[in-house]
Amino acid sequence: IKKIGVLTSGGDSPGMNAAIRAVVRTCAFHNVECVGIYRGYQGMIEGDFKEMGPRSVNNIVNKGGTILKSARSKEFMTADGRKQAYQHLIDAGINALVVIGGDGSFTGAEVFNKEFNFPVMGIPGTIDNDIYGTSHTLGFDTALNTVVEAIDKIRDTASSHNRLFFVEVMGRDAGHIALNSGIGAGAEEILIPEEDLGLDRLVESLKRSKLSGKSSSIVVVAEGDKIGKNVFELKDYVEENMPEYDVRVSVLGHMQRGGSPSCFDRVLASRLGVKAVESLLEGKTNFMVGLLNDKVALTPLTQAIKGNTEVDRELLRVSDIMTT
Ligand code: ATP
Repeated sequence: IKKIGVLTSGGDSPGMNAAIRAVVRTCAFHNVECVGIYRGYQGMIEGDFKEMGPRSVNNIVNKGGTILKSARSKEFMTADGRKQAYQHLIDAGINALVVIGGDGSFTGAEVFNKEFNFPVMGIPGTIDNDIYGTSHTLGFDTALNTVVEAIDKIRDTASSHNRLFFVEVMGRDAGHIALNSGIGAGAEEILIPEEDLGLDRLVESLKRSKLSGKSSSIVVVAEGDKIGKNVFELKDYVEENMPEYDVRVSVLGHMQRGGSPSCFDRVLASRLGVKAVESLLEGKTNFMVGLLNDKVALTPLTQAIKGNTEVDRELLRVSDIMTT
């Protein structure tokens, strides 16, 4: 392998830049050329490439987003699109690919590998932490810190006005952000896609905490919570059943995906970037690099894609005890 291409694809996440930097510098360390591919698979189809050396990634370790830009590419879902992408890689002399993204991006990488026998390596970059084969995806830790900081601020105003706040956080299929930030921010209840608390139990629990002397409450709701109601419907239901509460909704939205990566995400990105390049140079392909039991480890892409929506039972129990 003489030249490695690197791209970011799907939703961006803090730490992607630190991973790009690690890939570029590891290539330089091993005297392998490195090419940045803009806008994920779409840039691969269009041949939107840039040679990258160790100095082209100065001062990005601390930056959110991705300097290579990210995109979702419908064309890459077609055999024609992938063929064009392959031709551009060959023309540019690129003979291996590091894909930083989520499960969709890994599916694309796997399809591409099968079709053209092209070496690929994945780095998990998504704030949702919903990928199998790593305890942490890039951006998850930063997103948790962002969410906890926001909820702390919301709590200030909630307790000044005796209000109940529903705070919606990201997580359509996975409740990792909600569960961890909810525990960290001391939420009264946490609603996640993996568990059905039920509306009646929610109201009961809120009534209990009101009776026990709490003057304000925060309920953290994952986008895809199991009750199946959106956060505004939840507000209406609780207001009907608990007229004594002044209920408000706060949807945190895309601010959760931005910001300077935490130290944890920067270190993780650096470790995963080094491992991704060195694994390709050792002739490995079709794996994702991740963190398992605090060690960097490889998981076949096929397994990583299947996802890890299982929620940590121990965390659920801790959350139950903390909301007593
Ligand atoms: P996030 O978790 O933030 O959504 P993701 O990587 O899962 O990130 P997707 O939009 O699902 O994001 O996938 C990114 C891109 O990967 C798609 O736009 C498409 O180009 C490519 N891709 C996804 N699935 C396939 C597939 N089955 N075949 C080919 N390419 C695919």
